[in-house]
Amino acid sequence: MCGPIDGGASTTVYRSRPTDLEFDVITLADDIHVLRARSTHWPSPSNVVVIEDGDGLTLLDCGFGTEEARDGLDRALRTLGYEIGAVHTVVVTHPHLDHAGGIGLLPERVRVLGPTGLGETVADAVASAELIFPTAVRALAPERADLEIVEHFRTDCGVLDGPVEVTALVPGEDVNIGRTSWQVVLTPGHADGMYSYVESNLGIVVCSDVLVARGTSIPWYAPGGGGTRGYLGGLGRLAELDLQLAIPGHGGMIYGADNCSAAIIKTSERIERRTDAVMRALDAGPLSFAELEAEIYPQRVYDVIPWAASVLATHLLEGIEDGALHRHDDVFSTTA
Ligand SMILES: [Zn+2]
Ligand SMILES: [Zn+2]
Repeated sequence: MCGPIDGGASTTVYRSRPTDLEFDVITLADDIHVLRARSTHWPSPSNVVVIEDGDGLTLLDCGFGTEEARDGLDRALRTLGYEIGAVHTVVVTHPHLDHAGGIGLLPERVRVLGPTGLGETVADAVASAELIFPTAVRALAPERADLEIVEHFRTDCGVLDGPVEVTALVPGEDVNIGRTSWQVVLTPGHADGMYSYVESNLGIVVCSDVLVARGTSIPWYAPGGGGTRGYLGGLGRLAELDLQLAIPGHGGMIYGADNCSAAIIKTSERIERRTDAVMRALDAGPLSFAELEAEIYPQRVYDVIPWAASVLATHLLEGIEDGALHRHDDVFSTTA
């Protein structure tokens, strides 16, 4: 089962099980590895960074929270000579379940570090769904208002049984792991309070879902996630750093300073172009939400993840807030 199905007169129930939970192992240094998720097609787990030290393993992000996902992670760790019980610390970028769900399946003694609120969100299916497809989007998009995704996140992605204790990190602090030291950099937009982690000596950024990634909807954002201005601000912070390697949450790694810079610029431009595209379309006359969706993604993206609509909603709400757009009934227009 994949994608939305008709759930009856009043709801469209979205269910989709991951079909590939395997990772390819890429070794960057004796003690640093990337588990690259083979699939980038939703629902697929995030890439996982593995750092060895004398006590075992630290993971940066850890994939979904289902038993099957844990087995996939365990198989990948075994190719490095470890099993999942060797994990003593997990550092999380943001509370989306493809990155953070796995914290519920690790040994209880595992220390979890990440953004504030993470430990509660990953144990709450309704809150997890609200991050992805907020009530504010339903209010703007009448044809998507009945979309039901809570069960998808609860069952297919693996919501935790209960809250997990998380040590909240703050921007600018350093997280020391083995011989490495990762600076916490605030990069909101994709998710509120989201962090990227930067190892300055090695020039590595674990940028999760911040930078544009081929074969995904990224840059993706939703109302409440920090907005396009928050997103661009975070990209500006990354642009100031001396980066040699960006490890994204999905897809292949970005090697070299020039390619890292290009990815940051491309992501910024993609966001700004969407604002322009929506405004240009509305300059020609009033349009409905459904008509405007084509300005952001091709239809096949909405077929796989109907919450791609959250991106358009972000732009429309910002336009309304700025006074550049207004909404009358279910139609949007420019105020000029
Ligand atoms: Zn992701
Ligand atoms: Zn995400």
